[in-house]
Amino acid sequence: MIDLRSDTVTRPTPGMMEAIRNATVGDDVLGDDPTVMALEEKAAALFGMEAGLYCPSGTMTNQIAINVHTRPGDEVICEAGSHVYKYEGGGIAFNSGASVRLLQGDRGRITADQIAVNINPDDIHHPVTKLVVAENTANRGGGSCYDPAELRRISTFCREHALRLHLDGARFFNAMIATGVDPLETGTLFDTVSICLSKGLGAPVGSLLLGTGDFIRQSRRVRKLFGGAMRQSGYLAAAGIYALDHNISRLADDHVRATRIGEMLTHCSFVSHIAPVETNILIFTLSEEMPNELFLAKLKEENIHAMGIGPQTIRMVTHLDITDSMVEKLGEVLAKLQKS
Ligand SMILES: *Cc1c(COP(=O)(O)O)cnc(C)c1O
Repeated sequence: MIDLRSDTVTRPTPGMMEAIRNATVGDDVLGDDPTVMALEEKAAALFGMEAGLYCPSGTMTNQIAINVHTRPGDEVICEAGSHVYKYEGGGIAFNSGASVRLLQGDRGRITADQIAVNINPDDIHHPVTKLVVAENTANRGGGSCYDPAELRRISTFCREHALRLHLDGARFFNAMIATGVDPLETGTLFDTVSICLSKGLGAPVGSLLLGTGDFIRQSRRVRKLFGGAMRQSGYLAAAGIYALDHNISRLADDHVRATRIGEMLTHCSFVSHIAPVETNILIFTLSEEMPNELFLAKLKEENIHAMGIGPQTIRMVTHLDITDSMVEKLGEVLAKLQKS
């Protein structure tokens, strides 16, 4: 099976399974699972942050951050296709009672100038603009990366205007490999950072929220409230430690394979547009001659799986379990479709 639906479909490698099997665990709700603590410290140190919190999902790390940063009625600025708005079940409203200001970005990326004109004036009619969320890489943007200089401008602007700034870094390490964006500098630019271990890094479960010691203490309460405090989660955290140690630099291979798929798609007359490929996500549009369902069904006949994410729009994602020969096989299937 060639599963290009998402980079979340990866299975733990033998090395990762070994790390899971050998983990020393405790009860993390009681605060004594050494492997969870080691993972939290390791991730925090990577970004120069004071503390980290291990959570079951990136949805939870984002939602906890939003909950701790805001009060009900406050406004959160984010991009219209951002994960926190579009793919977290309305959690900003449901969990935190916060209002949202959506910006139309460039392939998922917003700018300091856009934020500047979307802050509400200090007037009792308006919600209090409190938090800005940036996503790097931007999922709906086709794995697009922020220019590190723009992130600095956004951070400076937010500091000057007393706005909190959260990074949804579900695929931060893809951006790091592609653009050289520095985790230590990132830790100085953002108040809080969320990273996912279960995407390109290949762990079965888990995300981390990073911030100041005080912020993470408050977040720990909210994680319990949201039902995300786990017991012998050191087994899962061991996979996370293994992922950070072994699976970051290899993301470059995923980017090369995604670029290769992008090139193959340029030769397909039934593909009308391909978003620039910057990391491991490809988003492309099919022409009318090739309905979405037909394309996905034709691939499925060859045991290749992709995802429809909108009218005539397909997403493919490369990851740890996609090899060069799988990419070549996809190429053959695309060539066959071209002829038929
Ligand atoms: C996957 C993802 C998340 C978190 O998703 P979970 O499935 O809840 O772990 C957050 N933000 C972005 C941009 C993502 O792609």
